[in-house]
Amino acid sequence: MKKILVTGALGQIGSELVMKMRDSYGADNVIATDIRRIEDNKVVQSGPFEILDVTDAKAMADIARSYQVDTIIHLAALLSATAEAKPLLAWNLNMGGLLNALEVARELKCQFFTPSSIGAFGPSTPKENTPQDTIQRPTTMYGVNKVSGELLCDYYYHKFGVDTRGLRFPGLISYVTPPGGGTTDYAVEIYYDAIKKGTYTSYIAQGTYMDMMYMPDALNAIIQLMEADPSKLKHRNAFNVTAMSVEPEDFRAAIQKHIPEFTMDYAVDPVRQAIADSWPNSIDATAAKEEWGFQAEFDLQKMTSDMLTKLREKFFQQIG
Ligand code: NAD
Repeated sequence: MKKILVTGALGQIGSELVMKMRDSYGADNVIATDIRRIEDNKVVQSGPFEILDVTDAKAMADIARSYQVDTIIHLAALLSATAEAKPLLAWNLNMGGLLNALEVARELKCQFFTPSSIGAFGPSTPKENTPQDTIQRPTTMYGVNKVSGELLCDYYYHKFGVDTRGLRFPGLISYVTPPGGGTTDYAVEIYYDAIKKGTYTSYIAQGTYMDMMYMPDALNAIIQLMEADPSKLKHRNAFNVTAMSVEPEDFRAAIQKHIPEFTMDYAVDPVRQAIADSWPNSIDATAAKEEWGFQAEFDLQKMTSDMLTKLREKFFQQIG
């Protein structure tokens, strides 16, 4: 990774990944792009930034050529809950954008990364300790896109020799940029509301287990996989990765250790609950551990402590 193009760079993952990669690889070597521009954003201010709609194949190829990139990190996508509300837009963006990015990677011989998701699994997938290789018949548009994307990336590797790599991310929890319309967003909102209001109303039902991971672990996983010895990778494009399998009550208990007066109730959203019910309770990350040494540093307690500290600092700075 010497000259890296990032799409969807102002989103939840991109806004932190770009800054971390600019630290490691040099600010000028990470070209951030997004369909929108936010002037007072660190990503826009700290290095090259271009407006790019990933459904515009020519614009993407022009930017990649002009910066002579050797790596593409493709993050632009519509997430699970939004994709269910706008399935045609999701197909066009998630599949069209991915195909355009893969074509640029093929033409310019770039290394390539794009995330898949636990949404690539469905109701007929084994729910507990979901294996790396298993049944994938998702019932959401997002899931259909993610399975297709995993297969498309495999195809570009086998057919054209593009060095494609990817992770099946669980719900990602972070404090820098709010999440963009996923089913696991409650696990971020709960921390914001715990600090701002002292109470949270969960749209996901009690007892609904899903995998989660703290953003620093997700960023490390991306970079570690991209730098991994390719000869060791058997599952290039869809490594299960996770740090914890948790339900809303686990977050309540963890937050109450720091804020004893914190309360939580439920107003379940049937659409997002149905998506959550179709996903695994816990996934098995053995392949990622064995093939490139994946290890998550943050469990629920450590993440909760860090999230609350960082959010308090953030709100204090905003008020100050
Ligand atoms: P996000 O919604 O926070 O950010 C997506 C970004 O893409 C936004 O900045 C948006 O402006 C941009 N975008 C939208 N349409 C675009 C277009 N046509 N052209 C260019 N940019 C466009 O998403 P994220 O959470 O950063 O997710 C990035 C990737 O990771 C996605 O593929 C997502 O499916 C995957 N993922 C995320 C999570 C999670 O919990 N955040 C979990 C699993 C997988």
